[in-house]
Amino acid sequence: MIPQNDIIMHSSKQTSTWQQQLADVVTSAEQLAQELELPAAYLQAAQQASQDFAIRVPRAFLERITKGDVNDPLLRQIWPLAQENSPPPAGFVLDPLGEISSNKTPGIIHKYHGRVLLITNGSCAVHCRYCFRRHFPYGDNALSSQQWLEALDYIKQRPEINEVILSGGDPLTNNDKRLFGLIKAIGEIPHITRLRIHTRLPIVIPARITDELVDNLTQSRLKIVVVVHSNHANEIDSEVAACLKKLYRAGIHVLNQAVLLKDINDDLTSQVNLSEALFDCHVLPYYLHLLDPVVGAHHFEVKQSDAQNLMLALQGHLPGFLVPKLVREVDGRPSKTTIDTPITPISSL
Ligand SMILES: *Cc1c(COP(=O)(O)O)cnc(C)c1O
Ligand code: SF4
Repeated sequence: MIPQNDIIMHSSKQTSTWQQQLADVVTSAEQLAQELELPAAYLQAAQQASQDFAIRVPRAFLERITKGDVNDPLLRQIWPLAQENSPPPAGFVLDPLGEISSNKTPGIIHKYHGRVLLITNGSCAVHCRYCFRRHFPYGDNALSSQQWLEALDYIKQRPEINEVILSGGDPLTNNDKRLFGLIKAIGEIPHITRLRIHTRLPIVIPARITDELVDNLTQSRLKIVVVVHSNHANEIDSEVAACLKKLYRAGIHVLNQAVLLKDINDDLTSQVNLSEALFDCHVLPYYLHLLDPVVGAHHFEVKQSDAQNLMLALQGHLPGFLVPKLVREVDGRPSKTTIDTPITPISSL
């Protein structure tokens, strides 16, 4: 017998569209604290921090958090702690990747050979507290139609570019009309062969992966790569798994990038479980990013030597194709910087 609660929960999720879920995100610290049964002592700091970078959590994500557990690895990604409000340590800045200075044509970030990031919009369904774009001037990147044409023109005029990466914010928060129009316009540029979509929507609002979206992607002449962003196996529930498998069955390559986060996924078990859970849905781990030193996120930082030791252990536990590349982004370099795995553990200083 199926408990009745399950039936009710299941049907309420199925009837709410991704647009409704996007409109229904939780943005108040009080409401989160109440629904997740968090201690009252945590509330004030969260309220203060959310004035700098608002709280935003889709219900589908919230439902995977264990009530009353302040150490829940999903909670820690979205709940502002008091440390966000403390003065930043040396080296933590507002724009760690220099994106504001490489952002000469609105909407375009062109730092690497052959590929450009297209900032399609500024909004995300979820606000991740460690996000390096938490201070990014998105307002300036909400493009007018004229600016769209200029951004596409930038790509057209550079035959050395063969890949366009839709980024944001989250490109899948765009409505279908806008998104499909953009994909079509990119498909019409002859030298573009690949379209990559960097998105957290399949993880936080899996209902976004509609049949219409999948059809549109598979009908494009472009090779499509979807890079999702999941940091912990607990994020991958049955709905997320179904959405990831759907992309795979449609012939879309799906990769994952994660951020290495202190006390969230910086241990061997978390990383092994994440890789296994991803591959169960046919997703391959791609990058594991060291934290970008952005103001307000220093408490998420994992020391590079600890990260390297973790990679050594991970390689001892998983096949090579399930081990992500440990990378850091260094401003001014022509690619992400890969961090070598040591031969023996690095001793802590
Ligand atoms: C990360 C990034 C890319 C993509 O890099 P890959 O190594 O190809 O995944 C492209 N442009 C910018 C500005 C980036 O930050
Ligand atoms: S989804 Fe990505 S861009 Fe958006 S807040 Fe999270 S880390 Fe930042």
